[in-house]
Amino acid sequence: MLVQEKIENVAKLVEKLNFAEKVERSLELIERAYEEFGEGLVVANSLGKDSSVVWHLAKRVSPNIRGFIVTTRFKPPETKQFMADEVSRYPELQVFCNDEEIPEKLYETNPDRCCEILKVRPTRQAVKEMGVSCWITGLRCTEGRTRTNFKEVEELDKGLIKLNPILIWYEREIWQYLALNQIPVNPLYAKGYRSLGCAPCTKIAQGVDERAGRWIGTSKCGGECGIHTKPLLDYQI
Ligand code: SF4
Repeated sequence: MLVQEKIENVAKLVEKLNFAEKVERSLELIERAYEEFGEGLVVANSLGKDSSVVWHLAKRVSPNIRGFIVTTRFKPPETKQFMADEVSRYPELQVFCNDEEIPEKLYETNPDRCCEILKVRPTRQAVKEMGVSCWITGLRCTEGRTRTNFKEVEELDKGLIKLNPILIWYEREIWQYLALNQIPVNPLYAKGYRSLGCAPCTKIAQGVDERAGRWIGTSKCGGECGIHTKPLLDYQI
């Protein structure tokens, strides 16, 4: 079983495997998860480049695999348009959004709280309402300082498996896959962004760390919104 398997120390595979071998490995991980979890296997699609790859890989395994998108009122217009296009192409993508009132500029005064309300809560809702037993993400260990310790198969919440099938891909290999398969991407990449998020918290940034443009000027700089670090099943508000 996927969950019982110890898939550790993948760091050395980042350099060891070539592009084609990584694609094969990712497909195999998704295939095995689909055999094990069936309808309970769902892709978390953030509408970024990595999600576009993961979504395409999952569709190669089975067109029946479903997905969810968590969006917020602060997503840039380009992302909102891309989301509308993707949902019309793939009606099996369900959108979750928390419209409850929050203090003005909470993203400045308390970005952790803002992400908790606008991103983590709708993710919990998606997991619950879609009956998710295994979710697939586009996490990569070369993305930045906060992403070096993830594993390909994780169980942060007992009973909810997280599969990170492209964990060992380089940024370059993401673009390689997208180009070779002519996959449409979020138009913000053409403007120079390398990591996408909500408009007030995302800037164009250069350098080694792909996520350096996220939450610039706050304690959260280059960090995480919480969906990969906080519990999704057993939690206290
Ligand atoms: S990314 Fe920024 S605006 Fe979006 S939920 Fe997090 S803190 Fe709020």
